[in-house]
Amino acid sequence: MPTAAKPRHAAAPDPGRRPGDRARVRHLVARDLETLRPGEQRGWWLREALAADPGTACPPPQGDATADVVIVGGGYTGLWTAWWLTEASPDLRITILEADVVGGGASGRNGGFLTAWWDYLPALVANFGPERGLESALALDGVAAWVGEWATGHGVDAKWQPGGTLVASTSPVQDDAWVGILEVAEQLGVRDRYQPLSPEEVRGRCASPVLRGGMLVPGDASVQPARLARGLRRVLIERGVTIHEGTRVTGIRPEAGGVRVTTALGPAIRASHAVLALNAWAAGWPGGGFGTGFGTGFGSRMITWSSYMVVTEPIPDRLEAIGWTGGEAITDCRFTNHYFRTTHDGRIAFGGGGGRAGYGGRLGSWVTDDRASTAMAARGFRRLFPMLDDVRLTDAWGGPIDIAPNHLPSFGSMEGGRVHWGHGYSGTGVGPSWLGGRILAALAQERLDDPVARLPMVGHRARPFPPEPLRFLGARVIREAIVAKEQRDDEGRYVPPPLRWLVRLPRAMGYDLGPE
Ligand SMILES: Cc1cc2nc3c(=O)[nH]c(=O)nc-3n(C[C@H](O)[C@H](O)[C@H](O)COP(=O)(O)OP(=O)(O)OC[C@H]3O[C@@H](n4cnc5c(N)ncnc54)[C@H](O)[C@@H]3O)c2cc1C
Repeated sequence: MPTAAKPRHAAAPDPGRRPGDRARVRHLVARDLETLRPGEQRGWWLREALAADPGTACPPPQGDATADVVIVGGGYTGLWTAWWLTEASPDLRITILEADVVGGGASGRNGGFLTAWWDYLPALVANFGPERGLESALALDGVAAWVGEWATGHGVDAKWQPGGTLVASTSPVQDDAWVGILEVAEQLGVRDRYQPLSPEEVRGRCASPVLRGGMLVPGDASVQPARLARGLRRVLIERGVTIHEGTRVTGIRPEAGGVRVTTALGPAIRASHAVLALNAWAAGWPGGGFGTGFGTGFGSRMITWSSYMVVTEPIPDRLEAIGWTGGEAITDCRFTNHYFRTTHDGRIAFGGGGGRAGYGGRLGSWVTDDRASTAMAARGFRRLFPMLDDVRLTDAWGGPIDIAPNHLPSFGSMEGGRVHWGHGYSGTGVGPSWLGGRILAALAQERLDDPVARLPMVGHRARPFPPEPLRFLGARVIREAIVAKEQRDDEGRYVPPPLRWLVRLPRAMGYDLGPE
C-alpha cells in the first residue's frame, strides 16, 4: 500500500524522539519473532473470512468446456471484471479459473485500504498531463462509497469502514510531504478532496507520539479485504458465473474465433475472449508477449515485490484509550511505507516497511515466509505504538505486489484483441481494481468507445525495466539503500551523501520509484 506523498531528504532533528527507543524496539521485535510464523498458514484475513463463510465448493473443471469470456485469476481484478461483464450482459457465459482459492492472492491478504487515486494525483498528471490525469482520478472518484453501497446491497459483510485515508508524517523528513499533492489539486480545482491536519489533529485521531502532521482523504474507506473477495465470489456465483478454484492455467493459444485456455489438470476452456488478471504472477507468465510485439513479456515492465503484515490480538479498550475509533486507515510518507488500520474486532493490522524484490518473475517463499520482512512490519508497529508494548502480535503474512515503472496500473489487449490484461497496481489495487475490472470488461466486449476503455492507462506502455539479472540486482541494491536511508530518517540519524544519491537513482533513470 505505497503512498504517493513525497518525503524530503534532510530535515531538522526530531525533538520528539526518545532516547533508548532503538533498543526497546529491537527487544520487542525479537520477542515478536519468537511466536510469529509467516507462511505457516493462510493470512489472518482469509482465515477469518473462510471461517465466517466457506462458500459453496468451486472444484476444477471435469472436462473441456466453452465460455464467452475466460478470466484467469480470482482476485479483485478478475472478480470485478466478471461483475462488470454480468452488468453489461447478464447472459454472457463467464468462467473464472483460479490456481488457488478466490482471494488466495493479494486480494485476500492486503491492508484493506480502499482508496481512490487522489493521493496519486501528481503521478497521474506527470504521466498523462493535467487534463487526462484528472480524468483518470475522476474515473475512480467515489469508489469507496460505491463499494460500501454495493456490499450492503448484496449482503456482503465486508466490514466496510468509513474514516478516510490519513497520510501522516512520522519523522521530520516526512513533514509536509503531501504539500505537492495539495498544490496540484488546487490547480485542478479538486482541493476539496483533501483535509490537511495539524499534528494535534492527527494525534486526536490516533494518539501515537510518533505521528506528526498529516492530510486526510476523507472519501476513502477500509474493508476486511478477504471478505470483499469472498463476497464477490458468492455474488458472481449467484449471477451464474462459473468459478473453478485449484485450477492453474498453463497457456492460452489462439484458435479460430477465439482462444483455447489450457489448465495444469488437463481440461481446456474455449472462449471468444480471455482476460489475464494475474497481479505479480503476470511477470512469470509463460510467453507473456504471445509474439505480438509486447517486448519480452509482462516481466519487462514489472518488478515483483513482497509486502508483509502483522496483526495484534483484539485490543478494543486500548484503541479507545488512544482515541483511534474513527476508522482512519493511516499511512506514513516513507517510500517503503507503513500502513496501519484498525479491524472490526478491535485489532491493529500493520504492514509494510520493506519487503523484497523477486528474480525473473518467480514468486517463491520470499513472498510468504520471509521473517526479515515480517520483522520490518513489526518494527514499524513497535515504533509507532510504544504504549502497546505489552500487546501481542498474533499473526504475520506476506503477499505479492506488481510494481510498475510509473507506479500505475496499465491495461491492454493482444492476440488480435482476444486476450486482455491488467496489472501494475504497485501495491494499491483494492480501489483501482474496481476500475480495472470495468476497463477489462469493456475490452473483452470490444466496447472500445466506452469512456473507461479510453482512459490513458489503457494501452499505455511505461518505460521498461532493465533485463534480468540487472533488474533483480538493481532492485535489490536500491531496496537496501532505501530501507537503510528511511530507517536512519526514522531514528533521526545522519544519512551519508552516497546513500542519498543511491536512493535517488531510480528517479534519475526515469522510474517513479524511491524517495524524491
Ligand atoms: C500485504 C499486502 C498489502 C496490501 N495492501 C493494500 C492496501 O491496503 N490497499 C490497496 O489498495 N492495495 C493493497 N495491496 C495491493 C492489492 O492487494 C492488489 O493490488 C490487489 O489485490 C490486486 O488484485 P488482483 O486481482 O490484480 O491480484 P490478486 O488478488 O493477486 O489475484 C491474482 C490471482 O491470480 C491467480 N493466479 C496466478 N497465476 C495463475 C494461473 N497461472 N492460473 C490461474 N490463476 C492464477 C493467483 O492465485 C491470484 O489469486 C496490498 C498487497 C499486499 C500483498
